Amino acid sequence: MSVHGYLMFFLPVFAVMIAVEFWISRKRGLRLYTKDQSIASVVIAIGQRLISFVPLSLVGVLWYAAYDNKLFDLSKDAWWYIPALFLGLEFFYYWFHRLSHEVRWFWATHSVHHSIEEMNFLAAYRFGWTGRISMASLVYTPLCLLGFPPTHIVIMLAFNLMYQSWLHTNLIGKLGPLEGIVNTPSAHRVHHAKNADYLDRNHGGVLMIFDRMFGTYVPEREDIPVEYGLIKPSGSTNPVRIAFHEWGNIINDLKQHSVRHWPALLFGPPGWAPNGEGSTSAALRAQYREGRGAGGANESAALGARSTAAS
Ligand SMILES: [Zn+2]
Ligand SMILES: [Zn+2]
Repeated sequence: MSVHGYLMFFLPVFAVMIAVEFWISRKRGLRLYTKDQSIASVVIAIGQRLISFVPLSLVGVLWYAAYDNKLFDLSKDAWWYIPALFLGLEFFYYWFHRLSHEVRWFWATHSVHHSIEEMNFLAAYRFGWTGRISMASLVYTPLCLLGFPPTHIVIMLAFNLMYQSWLHTNLIGKLGPLEGIVNTPSAHRVHHAKNADYLDRNHGGVLMIFDRMFGTYVPEREDIPVEYGLIKPSGSTNPVRIAFHEWGNIINDLKQHSVRHWPALLFGPPGWAPNGEGSTSAALRAQYREGRGAGGANESAALGARSTAAS
């Protein structure tokens, strides 16, 4: 069974979560759910589920080939087996997710998850339709080579995604000592932000420790309210347009540039351009910091005024 097949068991809990969040949203007048975006999220989730029934998965074939040539015969009954699978999966999930942001070919699928400009539990299940073209799941292959069976990897991955569903909300604030250790709604809001300082941060699934280890952890700041969505949004609530938006951008770029730039346009960072004037995360962050440096004095004065007002 696929990861998304296992997620179907979680559907009743998920439906209750959405109902409660929707009710609170109405009661407090928060407008956490807009009609067009919610319909788009539901259709994208259903479309993704239907596509996953197609029995064509090159990644699956490679996972099984790696497992057939496994390096270790791991004891499935050992006390450390499940913790080792959990930690191993979390490590490779971090890289799967980070590369899904840093390699445009993978981003073309993953950007669908980031296309929504509001945050709610329903957005958690906005998964891309083209995972079998992007094949970012290849990143997990070393786990099979180490001796973890593909079925166990898929089940652990399903638990990982189930955990992440409650992170997609504006209703839960910071969680004190848990911040920076496990993934929280606050950390995941940062992950979904398009603000320069927050871009491409907090990639972990259940844990934040690999983000801290590899320098991609950023806590949510009160002075930088999160803006959700993509740097270049599709501007559409049509699910098919959303699902193929970045693939369309890729095709346009390939048409406009010479073949020698194609490898970088396909596998370089999203936003890369041959003239060096692209809007990659690194470039946007640098521009933002330069701008902030120039206005540094004003910013400190404003911060001073704010702390005076607070005291
Ligand atoms: Zn992401
Ligand atoms: Zn998310």
